[in-house]
Amino acid sequence: MPLSTEGLDVLVCIKQVPDVTEMKIDPETHTLLREGVPSIVNPFDEHAVEAAVRIREALGGKVTVISMGPPQAEEALRQCLQMGADEAFLISDRALVGSDTIATSYCLSRAIATIGKCDLILCGQQAIDGDTAQVGPGIAENLSLPQVTCVSSIEVQDNRKKAIVRREIEGGYEVVECSLPAVFTVTKSINSPRPPATEIRGRQVRRLGVLDINCDPERIGLKGSKTWVMDMFPPKPNRRGVNAIESTLPAAERIRLLISGGLRERKGDILTGCSLEQVAAQWVNHLANWGLSRVGTP
Ligand SMILES: Cc1cc2nc3c(=O)[nH]c(=O)nc-3n(C[C@H](O)[C@H](O)[C@H](O)COP(=O)(O)OP(=O)(O)OC[C@H]3O[C@@H](n4cnc5c(N)ncnc54)[C@H](O)[C@@H]3O)c2cc1C
Repeated sequence: MPLSTEGLDVLVCIKQVPDVTEMKIDPETHTLLREGVPSIVNPFDEHAVEAAVRIREALGGKVTVISMGPPQAEEALRQCLQMGADEAFLISDRALVGSDTIATSYCLSRAIATIGKCDLILCGQQAIDGDTAQVGPGIAENLSLPQVTCVSSIEVQDNRKKAIVRREIEGGYEVVECSLPAVFTVTKSINSPRPPATEIRGRQVRRLGVLDINCDPERIGLKGSKTWVMDMFPPKPNRRGVNAIESTLPAAERIRLLISGGLRERKGDILTGCSLEQVAAQWVNHLANWGLSRVGTP
């Protein structure tokens, strides 16, 4: 597929995920009950699509969305077309069943290499079901491209040769200059995704199989996966948060607290007064009652 002569061609990887707010766990087997659970576009990926569409609106170019998944993932890609993507590809093949994050990243990078060159690849920071945040970095490694994770703003500069991005880190952010093409994974704070339009003006989702994208059969599916799931179990309940009723309280008070959920009420006073002096006088009075009257005095 030819690269636009002007503007920025952005490719977005999107994953269809079960709506985890509707998810239930089988109490016997402890596995996820997927039946009847609606599927959605991974919420982080909606932000990635929105970022790509805004870049095209500002600079021109093209937005391509791709997904690896079962045939029903086409629905998620159609939603991205409704959000403004120009073209969509679904990589769907029985040979991909059992693929872990390494095999998934490999397959997506083969698809990207086949679909054609692009200036920027966007992924969500993480998928809300698998939650590993490995696929974006895995694609970058396979394509030997620079990567920036947890990106919350993108400014393309220098005739699409580089981008200045802000990435979220614990307690703050970093500003990073990165040459293009590159892979960025985006956070939800990058934008507010637009609602999907009702029509997609004749644009269709195109299907690709593993032969179309020249996948090495040894690197996909269970065979190509390095991860083995040994067991699944729910987390143990956290007992530290349970409140005990104080045994020194009178019986009636203990019963009242039990009925109200066992929480001990916080006792406190509200200091009131017309002037700051009156409030300060009450505060000094309190300190005296607590035996702290000498606090603050020389
Ligand atoms: C042994 C094993 C077998 C598995 N077998 C299957 C299976 O048969 N079928 C199955 O559906 N899953 C299977 N999985 C899960 C599958 O590997 C992961 O769902 C997938 O690799 C994505 O990982 P993640 O959910 O942690 O995504 P993350 O790494 O958290 O996702 C980050 C971002 O990467 C992009 N991304 C992730 N996945 C895709 C995708 N599929 N298409 C496009 N973009 C994507 C999105 O932009 C996303 O926001 C298996 C996992 C293991 C360990």
